[in-house]
Amino acid sequence: MRTYDKFYINGQWVTPNGTGTDEVINPATGEISASVPLGNEADVDAAVAAAKEAFKTWSVTSAATREDFLRKLAVEAEKRNADLTQTVVDELGMPIQNAAAYQVDPLGIICESFADKAKHMEEEKEVGNSIITVEAIGVCAMINPWNYPIWQLIGKVAPAIAAGCTMIVKAASQTPSHLFIFAEMCEAVGLPAGVFNIVHGSGRVIGNALSSHPDVDLVTFTGSTGAGVQVTNAAAPTVKRVCLELGGKSPYIITEEADLDAAIDFGINDIMVNTGQTCNALTRMVIHESVYDKAVELAVAKTEALTVGDPNDPSIFIGPMASEGQKATVLEYINKGIAEGARLVTGGTEMPAGMTTGNYVAPTIFADVTNDMAIAQEEIFGPVLCMIKYSGIDEAVEIANDTPFGLASAVWAGDKDKAKTIAKRIKAGQCAINGGEPNHEAPFGGYKESGNGREFGDAGLHEYCEIKAMQF
Ligand code: NAP
Repeated sequence: MRTYDKFYINGQWVTPNGTGTDEVINPATGEISASVPLGNEADVDAAVAAAKEAFKTWSVTSAATREDFLRKLAVEAEKRNADLTQTVVDELGMPIQNAAAYQVDPLGIICESFADKAKHMEEEKEVGNSIITVEAIGVCAMINPWNYPIWQLIGKVAPAIAAGCTMIVKAASQTPSHLFIFAEMCEAVGLPAGVFNIVHGSGRVIGNALSSHPDVDLVTFTGSTGAGVQVTNAAAPTVKRVCLELGGKSPYIITEEADLDAAIDFGINDIMVNTGQTCNALTRMVIHESVYDKAVELAVAKTEALTVGDPNDPSIFIGPMASEGQKATVLEYINKGIAEGARLVTGGTEMPAGMTTGNYVAPTIFADVTNDMAIAQEEIFGPVLCMIKYSGIDEAVEIANDTPFGLASAVWAGDKDKAKTIAKRIKAGQCAINGGEPNHEAPFGGYKESGNGREFGDAGLHEYCEIKAMQF
């Protein structure tokens, strides 16, 4: 069991003002896997004050200095890879076969990516009689979810360091330990005091104190759309910048010309990885009527072949849901899908075969789903796939866009050019074309209720910048 009793504020491990601890439950075993201290508003004040003071000198360091710290963090990430991976297995329940690849390995890669971009902060652009420059925006509050805790952390911290911002980070209550390890990494590379600070506690207390704090210049939030709205409201009186990365209900159009076996393979892996707890999961598969029945048959066979069990076992692909609450929510949606008249073709509300304890839900597929059903409109955040039939491409695009969300999408067509033509009609921030793999240099973020920000790539750095125009 991991035990932490201090926060990292102003380059020191300090005893929190808050009292009490958060005990993190391992979702596979029900045992306590970590104990972390709970902070209060005074801890937020101390962390913000440290970040505000540090900003005076950190924001005017050379880009080369900040680049150097990011490269050192990438080296440190290698050293702590196993520790970080185990926190993901123990607290989120993500199986070890994917935990490093999806969550921890990108840490070093993304540090290197933003190390390369730090130099852009010193560029000047001439426009007529003006010179345009960019500057670090200031003190940043970062609030993260539990489903990809380390990937979300580095998607915020690395560009903020590159830009010259200082920061206070809050992880989700379910997955806090990686943040304490990351603070140890910042300490190990000698990041100046006050640049990186951590506090822990609920969103209601700590998240709200950060979002509303008058000395915070930017709040960047990843999580549910409902909490994103609360953050926006809390931030409004101080007119700070609010960057939101929210939920999704992403469509995946498969045409009659697609390589069906490869297309379904891609789709099942995408929805089932991390037990369906993925913001950009392709949860609505929209399939041409001529290949629909075959697609359902393939999807069921591939899903039933997935291994379910102990996330520490390297042969396991599907672990437990992250919490009892998440399991209850997913089961409620499965019942709702049955009540709405969707056809349950695999999975359901029983525990997966062989499992007696833990927050397990069987990987589930509904066929004959119509896009107006709640299971097709609302984010379930579990291993539940909706298969929807279409007869013409205009109808497919209409179904794809008939959602309050717009985070991600995918198209598999006869060739990449045909797929690209369809992709351009989908209102979403990303589109995977014929199985295209994720790219850490590409911007990630949503349209509509999926958010208003972009993380990663040049756009990810831009979030942490103010723009200045000087007229000569
Ligand atoms: P959540 O319940 O909204 O919580 C996210 C974070 O916000 C947690 O740290 C939470 O703290 C905090 N929080 C909750 N209410 C708050 C408030 N009123 N003010 C400030 N902070 C508050 O979401 P989740 O269940 O952790 O994560 C799942 C959601 O995140 C899904 O909707 C998923 O799609 C979305 N997501 C989006 C992206 C993206 O890039 N677009 C990536 C990953 C996940 P506590 O939990 O500690 O109370």
